[in-house]
Amino acid sequence: MQEPQKNISLKTLNTFGIDVSAELFSSFNTEEELKYLIELNKNEKKEVLILGGGSNILFTKNPEQWVWQNCIKGIEVISDSSNEVLLKVGAGENWHNFVLYCVDKNWGGIENLSLIPGCVGAGPMQNIGAYGAELKDTCHAVECIERKTGQSKTFTAQECEFGYRESIFKQKVKDQYVITYVYFKLSKNAKVNTQYGSIQQELDAMQIAEPTLKDVSNAVINIRQSKLPNPSELGNAGSFFKNPVISEAKFKSLKEKFPQIISYPAANGNVKLAAGWLIEQCGLKGFRQNNVGVHSKQALVIVNYGNSKGSEIWELSEKVIQTVKDTFDVELEREVNIY
Ligand code: FAD
Ligand code: NAP
Repeated sequence: MQEPQKNISLKTLNTFGIDVSAELFSSFNTEEELKYLIELNKNEKKEVLILGGGSNILFTKNPEQWVWQNCIKGIEVISDSSNEVLLKVGAGENWHNFVLYCVDKNWGGIENLSLIPGCVGAGPMQNIGAYGAELKDTCHAVECIERKTGQSKTFTAQECEFGYRESIFKQKVKDQYVITYVYFKLSKNAKVNTQYGSIQQELDAMQIAEPTLKDVSNAVINIRQSKLPNPSELGNAGSFFKNPVISEAKFKSLKEKFPQIISYPAANGNVKLAAGWLIEQCGLKGFRQNNVGVHSKQALVIVNYGNSKGSEIWELSEKVIQTVKDTFDVELEREVNIY
């Protein structure tokens, strides 16, 4: 295993393309290599930042933490019955490649999550979700190594406390574990889920009446490619903000003032608002401030037009939060992890 490296540029390792450097950088390919780093760190005593694909991160300064890039690979079939398959997947596997691998085998449950950037190991962090599916729908368990002790611990899906873009890894046990493997239970007789409006529209446009898993995956890929900026062309980290969830009472009063407001039912009788709509109503869709801006096709996405600093992106996100607060009295929360 390579010795820790000093002053490594992270520009190509985060999809915002922010030009920062890690004072100390290592990558690990196996659990043994990870445990070796944990041993080394018993002397260094540094805070650690685990990096996957860097697609949900904003660096506002050079990270002081020791950056450990997770490169654990492998897709293993643990059990296989006539109905379902249980898979153990290395946290460093590319998420979209994993989805395509399963779609090709006709194992269903994650096809709606096609084309989400990043690695498998970051999936449980925010319970990645899109087009009516979430990681929690198929996640069976999450295997981890404790960052301080090097001890293994497996969280059952229930113990992960998955919620809307949430999990125990962002809350109670934040920064305590490295996710090394994720277990998925996928169906061999899966019914496709085309309820999310734009999927059905896209399948109609593709003239597909009885879609397969592959068709749904392709429909999702088509929609995403038409709406979302490709990070290799325009730096971004997907949705910068979460959709706010508010009480029914608060929603009623907002609906009186803004009859067109877009909403969806959420857990516990609450209401989910479309943050993109709120930002657009504030006139910020397409807004540009020097090298950063709110994307012109999707107001939830903040983009780096080139050479922007993380702090400029942060400042624009503050402006968005403040404007939405002043207009709707709704507090937007950042989804992207800030360092
Ligand atoms: P990173 O950005 O590398 O890390 C994210 C966080 O997880 C960091 O805090 C990091 O420390 C931590 N982390 C990463 N790996 C581990 C690990 N193994 N153990 C412990 N902690 C870890 N997200 C969605 O949910 N749905 C979408 O539809 C979606 N679409 C996107 C579209 C675009 C164009 C982009 C750029 C992003 C999108 N995202 C979406 C956000 C992002 O792709 C996901 O959140 C993804 O899971 C992040 O993976 P990553 O490997 O890049 O994580
Ligand atoms: P969209 O289809 O324009 O819809 C806007 C918002 O309304 C979405 O955020 C979605 O919430 C919600 N919504 C739409 N239809 C819904 C339904 N039938 N039931 C419940 N909620 C519904 O959204 P978009 O921006 O193009 O994104 C499409 C999907 O990809 C969404 O699921 C979105 O979360 C996901 N996505 C996520 C990221 C990210 O970085 N997190 C980036 C791009 C896309 P939800 O977000 O809760 O689904």
